Amino acid sequence: MCKAMWFYPVKKSCDWTTKNEIENDDLMELSGQSRGSPVDDELPLPKHHFISLVKLCVDFGFFVFAGDEYQQISGLAMGSPLSAVLACLFMETLERDHYRDIIGRHSTWLRYVDDVLVIVPRRSCLHHTLTRLNSVHEKIQFTVEEEEDQKLPFLDTLIHRGDEDLRFSVYRKPTNKDDYIHYYSANSNNTKSGVVIGFFLRALRICSPEFLESEVTYVIDSFMKHKYPKGLLLNLRKKAENILSRSNPVISSNFLVLPPCNLSQAISKYFGNTMNIASTSGEKIHDLIREKKQQKSNTDSAVYRIPCSGCDMAYYGETGRGFNTRICEHRADVRHHRTSNSMVVHVDEAGHLPNWEEAETIHEGLSKHKRKVMEAAYIATEKNMNTASGRFKLSKVAAAIIRTSARSRSSGDSSTPMLYKYAVYSPKCMYF
Ligand SMILES: [Zn+2]
Repeated sequence: MCKAMWFYPVKKSCDWTTKNEIENDDLMELSGQSRGSPVDDELPLPKHHFISLVKLCVDFGFFVFAGDEYQQISGLAMGSPLSAVLACLFMETLERDHYRDIIGRHSTWLRYVDDVLVIVPRRSCLHHTLTRLNSVHEKIQFTVEEEEDQKLPFLDTLIHRGDEDLRFSVYRKPTNKDDYIHYYSANSNNTKSGVVIGFFLRALRICSPEFLESEVTYVIDSFMKHKYPKGLLLNLRKKAENILSRSNPVISSNFLVLPPCNLSQAISKYFGNTMNIASTSGEKIHDLIREKKQQKSNTDSAVYRIPCSGCDMAYYGETGRGFNTRICEHRADVRHHRTSNSMVVHVDEAGHLPNWEEAETIHEGLSKHKRKVMEAAYIATEKNMNTASGRFKLSKVAAAIIRTSARSRSSGDSSTPMLYKYAVYSPKCMYF
């Protein structure tokens, strides 16, 4: 199709242009336009409210630089999740209303964010087209980069124009240093394998057959420089090929986040496609050297246990108001027969009284959140008379991990045991 054509990309003049130099009023104009505008009843709130909220987010661009406060009056804030969406809407509107006519129907326009690949007939005057494109909006200014030696980079692909067809290889910028994650870095094996597989997948997806082997060799050489064993790299290449040959990979929406450990591969195998296993990078140098915030000491915080005098069950609770205060309250509950307290239910059902003398605190000084987690962990693993599981419903395995983790950390280190986070913040974790 393209053999009789020249092709030229229209390249970004600067990254800032398309994203950030659009007048805010332009964006608001967009929201009123018909393209893709949802009707009111598809939104959870009336359209004009939605527009006001977006406008508020766009206008509220304040930042501090060198101690002075500034307001951004033009363009979109970098890093705002709205910016990319609005910038794309803006570009799409310009394409629909102006660029399509300028480019004409004999050319192809392919845009990714602010990079555009344009395939134009050999006879067309590119510079005339460029002038017309740049006259559309004063802040959307393009520069052009033409093919050289019948080659043209676009994103991470190098396009080779042959006499008959187009062929593709991986493109690396001249500044590329192949500086990847080192094999001896403290990241999990999964993370390291994932990075390598990503490079193989890119090679497999982009490269035409004639460029594939040299690209794969390049990837292997680059990672061997970072001490990756060659056998591992060859295995990972096979893995990448398998991933690519799967027609419709089943992707589960369940995630299990683990601390870096050697078990993650075994756990991943056990769950198969039903669970995505991810791991964090663990403790970083930053964590070791930063000054920890002085935490308010909470002497009234306690997780406690009240054993039964008639059987081996116990009641587990937590409080932020002091162990003694809470015991007095429990005693009053039993005295006044308040059946909302599960200890009173046990007294009624089994005829056993709580053993107040043996009541004890099992954790002190924890934050409210950690207290709730620990309470739930004890309820899930110990014989108890609690009728509710506490705020969190933990499986036995998750609870046991949390307790072990808390024990191993309790010697002088007050930072959050990592497993609290894993078991509590990723709810799917509780299924295992
Ligand atoms: Zn009992």
